Formats: sequence, C-alpha cells, structure tokens
Amino acid sequence: MVADLSELTGFLPGKVRSLVVKVGSALLVDGDGTVRRDWLAGLVTELAARRAAGQAIIVVSSGAIALGARWLGLAKGGRATLEDAQAAAAVGQIALSQVWADLFASHDLTAAQMLVTLGDLEDRRRYLNASATLERLLGLGVVPVINENDSVATEEIRFGDNDRLAARIGQAARADAVLLLSDIDGLYTANPHRHADAAHIPFVPRIDGAIAAMADADSASGMGSGGMISKIEAARIATGAGAHLAIVSGRVDAPLGAWAAGARGTIFKGAARRGARKDWLAGRLTVKGAIMIDAGAATALSKGRSLLPAGVTSTSGTYARGDVIDVVGPDGARLARGLAEYDSADAARIIGRRSEDVAQLLGEPGRAVLVHRNHMVLL
Ligand code: GLU
Repeated sequence: MVADLSELTGFLPGKVRSLVVKVGSALLVDGDGTVRRDWLAGLVTELAARRAAGQAIIVVSSGAIALGARWLGLAKGGRATLEDAQAAAAVGQIALSQVWADLFASHDLTAAQMLVTLGDLEDRRRYLNASATLERLLGLGVVPVINENDSVATEEIRFGDNDRLAARIGQAARADAVLLLSDIDGLYTANPHRHADAAHIPFVPRIDGAIAAMADADSASGMGSGGMISKIEAARIATGAGAHLAIVSGRVDAPLGAWAAGARGTIFKGAARRGARKDWLAGRLTVKGAIMIDAGAATALSKGRSLLPAGVTSTSGTYARGDVIDVVGPDGARLARGLAEYDSADAARIIGRRSEDVAQLLGEPGRAVLVHRNHMVLL
C-alpha cells in the first residue's frame, strides 16, 4: 500500500502519461464573482511545465455559472432556477474560455474549448466522437478545456457536477489519472466541517460500502455543485476504467507542486483496465432499471456467466431492450451493469423461470438470457 502511494504521489509526468485536471468553481471564482486570476496563472504555469515534461493535460473547468451570475447580477450565484443557470453559463463560459486561452497562450500553448452534455457521453456514437476529438487535440499538442454545456442541458440530462464529468472525460480520453482540485484536501471518515474528530484518508485501494458511506453531499463552499458524493461517484467511474483519481486541495498557490511535495490528498487506485466498451457501459449514468438476483445467480455472475431468468427475484423500473440496467445482489449491493435483452414487461413475466420455459411464456423463441455477459460489466 505504501509502495502504491509513493508511486502515485503527485501524479508526476514520468509516472502518469495523461492527466485530467478538474478545477472547481470555488477555486476559479472569488466569493464576489471575479476570476482568481493570480491563482489560476500559477496553476497554468504548473500545467505548462507538465506539458513540457511530456504529460498530456486535459482541463475540466467549472466556473461558468458563477462568473455569468455576477455579470448578470443573478441571485444565488445563478443557481436559483435552471433558466438562470443556463443564462449565467452562456455568459460566463465565454469569459472563462478566454481566461484559459490567454493563460495558456502566455506559455505558448494552445487551448481548445469543448462543451459536452451528459447525452454526448451516454450515446455510444457521440462518445466515440468526443473521444476521437480529444485524441486529435492531444496529438496536436493542444490543451482541451472542457465544461458541461450548461446552457442547453436541462435538469434530467445534466451531469450537474464537473467531478463526474471529469471522470467520464478521463474515460473517453483513456487518461491514466484524474485530479480533482477541490476546496477540501481529500476524503475524511465524516464531514470535517461538522465533525472535529473526522480522520483523513490518504489512500483508497478499493471503493467499498464503508468508503461510500463517508461521503457527504454538502459542498463546503456552496458555490460549485459537487460534494463528496459526486467525488466518490467520479472515483468509481475513473478507477473502474483503470485510471487513478485523486482529490487534492486547490486552496494553496501552485497546488500541483504542493501536492507533489507532500501536501495531503486522497488517492483512489485505478483497477485493472477492462475493454473500452465495458468502461463506457460501466460509466453510463442513465440507468433505466434494476434486476434483483439471488445468491446462486450472484455466484454465476462473478464467474463471468450471463444472467439467466432463473436466478432473478424481481425487477424494477421501466426499460426497453438495449437499455442499461443494474444487477443487484441479495444484500442490495450493485453487482453489475449491462444491457437488457428484454424490456421490463417481458422481463417481469420470465423472472424466476427456467430458460426452457421462456419461449413458451413469451410465445416466441427467446434469447434465454436477461443480460448477456458480453454486454455486462461487473462492478
Ligand atoms: N458546469 C458548471 C459551471 O461551469 C459547474 C459544475 C460544478 O460545479 O461542478 O459553472
């Protein structure tokens, strides 16, 4: 464990080839709504040095809503209504991109803006497009600066927080690591703002139930939208795709240097890589339903088998064939995610039945599996 940590500390260019750096709203924008330009210039100097040392850098930048809200004089930092947030983002994004472009240009680097919605990364074809664009930009030596396209994303189709967006971008770019620069220096056993005895956790080899329970939805600053829950979700997505993820404080000047020099942070270790398609599937956020299975089916699943109707105890949600559904074990833990072979109505009719009976029940030759192992990823 200690060896892992020293290997990963600082996500240094020699050790990590490509890095996504997410910068939260509270770091970018002051309480009064102005850009924290000096701090940002320090960060960009660090990022430029990493680029020069051969590390591919992608920035995921928040701050559009906070900036635009100040410009327009909107209440609650522009987050009072969805329409306010959309208008604020449209105004703020232009200024935000300009700041990044100027700062990178002062190091002779070209920045590129990409705005994406949840839908862009959930749809396989659009995801592949985004992935190809990122690859080309990095190949051209450009630094992509990415944000959610908040002006068109409505509530149901929003990421809402840039933590998960950064993890998804990491996945699409096949990045080695994702760094969340935050107003907190990592994960604690409880919210340290409310519990004085909360202990800091430097290293998470695997995200289990106990780790997830430590999260707290409240963002300390009240400006961004990502609390610890969204950070753990991001860690789940990134580590599942084989990338390491770290939460590090951005509340210091030159935060990357400070971290590399030993400042506190939490590193979530990336798992072994699975196929690119399975990564995409596991990171999908739009899950339409769930299938609950018994212990026998859970064992079969862990051995890499497909999910048969016989081991299913119930199904929830409304899904069509091909939609993403979760497979949930007898203890309520999410075991796998996959594409449904049947819609929810048919699934409800055949659960608990032997595969031989399925054709008769549905009046057509069945595919006999509810989720095929090729279209399923174990979580
Ligand atoms: N996309 C939002 C913005 O640019 C920020 C989301 C977040 O706070 O994570 O303002």
